[in-house]
Amino acid sequence: MDGNAIGLRVHARVDAAAIAHNLAALRARLGPASATRIWATVKADAYGHGLHRVLPGLAGADGLAVSQLADARACRAAGWNGPLLVLGGLLDAEEAQRLALPDLHLALSHDRHIDWLAGVPSCAAPPWIWLRYAGDIGYTGFDDAGYAEAYRRCAVLARQGRIAGIGHLNHYGRAEQPDGIAQADARFQALIRDLPGPRSFCNSAALLRHPDAARSTDWVRPGIALYGASPLPDIDGPALGLIPAMSLHTRIIGIRDVARGERLGYNGNIVAAAPMRVGMVASGYGDGYPRRVPAGTPVLVDGHTAAMLGAVTMDLIPVDLTGLPPVAIGAPVVLWGTPELPVEKVARHMGTIAAELLTSLTPRVPVIPVPMAEPDDLEQKSKISGSPPDRPRR
Ligand SMILES: *Cc1c(COP(=O)(O)O)cnc(C)c1O
Repeated sequence: MDGNAIGLRVHARVDAAAIAHNLAALRARLGPASATRIWATVKADAYGHGLHRVLPGLAGADGLAVSQLADARACRAAGWNGPLLVLGGLLDAEEAQRLALPDLHLALSHDRHIDWLAGVPSCAAPPWIWLRYAGDIGYTGFDDAGYAEAYRRCAVLARQGRIAGIGHLNHYGRAEQPDGIAQADARFQALIRDLPGPRSFCNSAALLRHPDAARSTDWVRPGIALYGASPLPDIDGPALGLIPAMSLHTRIIGIRDVARGERLGYNGNIVAAAPMRVGMVASGYGDGYPRRVPAGTPVLVDGHTAAMLGAVTMDLIPVDLTGLPPVAIGAPVVLWGTPELPVEKVARHMGTIAAELLTSLTPRVPVIPVPMAEPDDLEQKSKISGSPPDRPRR
């Protein structure tokens, strides 16, 4: 167990240098000559990593994308001086009245959004507008019938100097598939053919699976890949050259030899089909590790792959140590998030995705930041202030 983890039952580690590496790796995929800029998506407190912990690794990003305006203000307070994109647009008309945040970009997805902006008499720092297309997800955004009219209304606001410019935003529903974006793209491109403005279409899956399409746009919006996890079903992050940025660690706190036929767990859910050595891992659903874990889900015990037995409790997870080299009480356990056991691999066993596991850790899990060397690139440093601004921003 490493020195920092003494006395900790369970802990997570977050490595900002891994984020910096992943950002550079995604930029390399766009190509050396690419002018495409990168919104680093940091919604849900940077996919559960903690915005303040990942920010030192995001100095090379061109902007940050968040869910709501309050998150954008939190990014400024944390020292981010670059552009901010609010993917959820505005919550209500009041929010529109107190925008004054320099370098703010708002994704608008319905007519009320435009009404609210049109109701603002003047804004010291007019925001950029990104019109969101409903696309093949269809959860939010303008559909084919309303898009051009929304653009026309925003163009009026732009001519009056009340917004800074208009861009086009789409979010794909199945970009991880080889044929996942062609149809959605053809439709949207036809719709915006005569409407000027920058384009932002691609999440991590689209960037990784369809780099040529990503390169042809002005801004991409990767999230999960920045944190080192692959969104593609057939290949893990490390094989894509990504480094996991968060890992979940605990230890073995009990070992029992169990006879054939013996039952374990609440209601005797686990039955030993043969003599077994069972290790108790000091974590559970109280830490955000899902309760319904199928038997066979992998875990690393002292560096060796072991199989979970299912039946996770609040504080304990039983694992099968039978046949493994001898394991001692206190042996280190990795639940997920290293190159040997990527979080997406564990998520696949559970029938979920990496982002859900990353955002599920509960407050009782302490997070230890991996120390990061100071960036020596002065230009990169300039986008992030060393300390939060002391002047409140409204
Ligand atoms: C979350 C989100 C992204 C990032 O998606 P990933 O799959 O994590 O790369 C991009 N765009 C929008 C609109 C999003 O909501």
